Amino acid sequence: MMKEAVLYVVVPCYNEEEVLEETTKQLKLKMEDLINKKVISSKSKVMYVNDGSKDKTWEIIKNINKKEKLFTGISLSRNRGHQNALLGGLMTAKEYADVVISMDADLQDDINAMDEMLKKYKEGNDIVYGVRSARKKDTFFKRVTAEGFYKFMKVLGVDCVYNHADYRLTSKRVLDEFANFKEVNLFLRGMFPLVGFKSDVVYYERNERFAGESKYPLKKMLNFAWDGITSFSVKPLRFICTLGFLILLVSFGIMIYSLVRKLTGNTVDGWTFLSISIWFIGSLQMISIGIIGEYVGKIYSESKARPRFIISENLERK
Ligand code: UDP
Ligand code: MG
Repeated sequence: MMKEAVLYVVVPCYNEEEVLEETTKQLKLKMEDLINKKVISSKSKVMYVNDGSKDKTWEIIKNINKKEKLFTGISLSRNRGHQNALLGGLMTAKEYADVVISMDADLQDDINAMDEMLKKYKEGNDIVYGVRSARKKDTFFKRVTAEGFYKFMKVLGVDCVYNHADYRLTSKRVLDEFANFKEVNLFLRGMFPLVGFKSDVVYYERNERFAGESKYPLKKMLNFAWDGITSFSVKPLRFICTLGFLILLVSFGIMIYSLVRKLTGNTVDGWTFLSISIWFIGSLQMISIGIIGEYVGKIYSESKARPRFIISENLERK
């Protein structure tokens, strides 16, 4: 009989004093249930990551840890943002766990999807992505912008799981490989697919935040989306070159048009020369910037130093 896996649930928390008690209550029930059903080992824990909160979040976490052996925590030296906090939690938890699930502190991710995730893990999946089946409870604005974003990422050639945020199960070996991704502009949901291994998805309904307010105001959301695009795609750079060539075509049109106007004799002196020059030089400049962009793009991907391959099985090493 295989020993049950040790599960760590990593929960980043930034100013979450309003939700922690309730989250703890619900997660405790869930963890105890999973332990009793022998789905996970009794050594499993929930790890709260205090992301430099300004309220009592860390005091609350320390108190919970004193009372409940199921709960533990780490605290970052200052606020570093959701993605960094999450990474800190994952990299710490992997030292103790066989499998890690990450979720938000506000229970917007349905914790009952954990059962299904663990089932898929047992079936041999190393990553299980939680995917929102519907966004009924999101505002119209949030739904349209978020779904538009995922579609746009696809156009840019980024391999993102549609409607998946950061509710996901990862095995220890995925996290060990993930530690080799040294980039500092984190967009975790786009990075995990790069690791590879067998993966699956679990659908769940996203709830409303039950207390407190969103720690992701519009400005942070836009920054995050922009990070996602610029950390994963060099297509915007390539677009400059394409634009340059398009303008070059236009400049040929302008050239013919200007010459015809000149030969039919209804132009001011010097106009032909100027209009041709402006368009032609413009397109040359655009193309030159595009070429520089190509090299900048290369430097950019080299500087990320992502792993060039990850071995999943080696028959030499039994
Ligand atoms: N969070 C964090 N650091 C931050 C902002 C947010 O650790 O700087 C955490 C927050 O406590 C929550 C999760 O990230 O657990 C998601 O944030 P939130 O629920 O506010 O985002 P939303 O669901 O509104 O997109
Ligand atoms: Mg939330």
